[in-house]
Amino acid sequence: MRTVEVLVVGGGAAGIAVAASLLRRRSEAAVAIVEPQDKHYYQPAWTLVAGGLFDPSKTERPMRHCIPKGVQWIRASVAAFDPAGNAVVLDDGERIGYRVLVICPGLQLNWHAIEGLPETLGRNGVTSNYRFELASYTWQLVRTLREGAAIFTQPPMPIKCPAAPLKALYLSSDIWRRRGTLGRIEVKLNISGAALFSVPLFVPALLNYVDRYNAALSLKTTLAAIDGPARKAWFEIQNEDGSVRRVAESFDMIHVVPPQSAPDFVRRSPLANGEGWVDVDPATLRHRRYDNVFSLGDACSAPCTKTAAAVRKQAPVVATNIAAQLSNRQPCTTYDGYGSCPIVVERGKVLLAEFGYGGTPMATFPLDPVKPRRSFWFMKRYILPFVYWHLMMTGREVLAGPTGPARIAP
Ligand code: FAD
Repeated sequence: MRTVEVLVVGGGAAGIAVAASLLRRRSEAAVAIVEPQDKHYYQPAWTLVAGGLFDPSKTERPMRHCIPKGVQWIRASVAAFDPAGNAVVLDDGERIGYRVLVICPGLQLNWHAIEGLPETLGRNGVTSNYRFELASYTWQLVRTLREGAAIFTQPPMPIKCPAAPLKALYLSSDIWRRRGTLGRIEVKLNISGAALFSVPLFVPALLNYVDRYNAALSLKTTLAAIDGPARKAWFEIQNEDGSVRRVAESFDMIHVVPPQSAPDFVRRSPLANGEGWVDVDPATLRHRRYDNVFSLGDACSAPCTKTAAAVRKQAPVVATNIAAQLSNRQPCTTYDGYGSCPIVVERGKVLLAEFGYGGTPMATFPLDPVKPRRSFWFMKRYILPFVYWHLMMTGREVLAGPTGPARIAP
């Protein structure tokens, strides 16, 4: 069995950032990343691609260019964990040992949980910004729709970037408003949860924009099935008494956000908590039972918002704590739960929702946090992609070090 000093599972935002941050602290560390895909994606720009405001090719890069220099890339998938034996099992059956394990394979998009969805996704007006190639399809639908019904859905939480379903509605509606067609398009927002957004502070401002676009908001309304060719979707609506009724709605365009969960191979493992996520201490991000296992990003159990912004603050913390672990010391830095959703409410304006554990507001700038701003749009459109590719992916922790005020959202 080959053994690696630090083995990272997943070469997404979290895996690359933590490997790069660790090497900045311990250049001699032997680090390997297990990652099956040959492309790395900057997912936060997919909502902009869907509004015709970002070049899709600028959201993907060859994985080999993203893996930090000096890090070994093991091109495979992890199939199982054996934490008692300090090993993982790859999909071809090979076991790889480690001294420290870092788990960050992201989350699983459960397209199959909606009956009929996989068959029609990407056709018949059915789209989702949660897949690279479909963000461009959203843009095609938005720019060609002149009248009819447009439905936007949001599944039960948790999902990555919980504001992404809203952003899809806002940007599409803004385009129709500017073209003068919004009056002929019936916009619906069907949300599984009981509130528009999890942090009450931001809800009134977000509702203002729902009203501005004349969108009909239905809470406790979950997409259950879809028939693309018939352009029909079925929703399960929870009644006051807890019973559920099923209603059919016709659409010309539907933006679907799939239900999301921990990846199956994590959920089935001894490292998972009751809900399937990697069971970490929310402060140190170290596993609650296995001292040499850490996790960050969408797959970990920390009750923060699942965003790249959270990853940006988690990576330096985990890297510092791994370095301590390699020196047989206890974790010495902690994560405060910071996450952020830059919510594009119209072209040229962003509401920057920043909050920590328990929904505590954590504004970076001394400005009214509920006011959409042009400056934040500039940040979202131009600065954050740069921050992601050139700082976060390379371990340059500008304003993100474990002791610094790391509060800017990629
Ligand atoms: P990912 O970046 O998804 O990477 C996971 C990696 O693990 C992938 O490369 C995958 O191939 C690999 N992997 C999977 N299974 C295995 C396995 N078995 N073995 C080995 N490797 C495996 N965040 C923001 O901060 N701001 C935003 O505005 C924002 N908007 C978003 C909009 C959309 C439409 C989407 C989809 C996401 C958005 N996000 C946003 C969220 C952000 O992209 C994620 O939170 C972030 O990418 C999480 O990083 P991660 O490394 O945990 O997961």
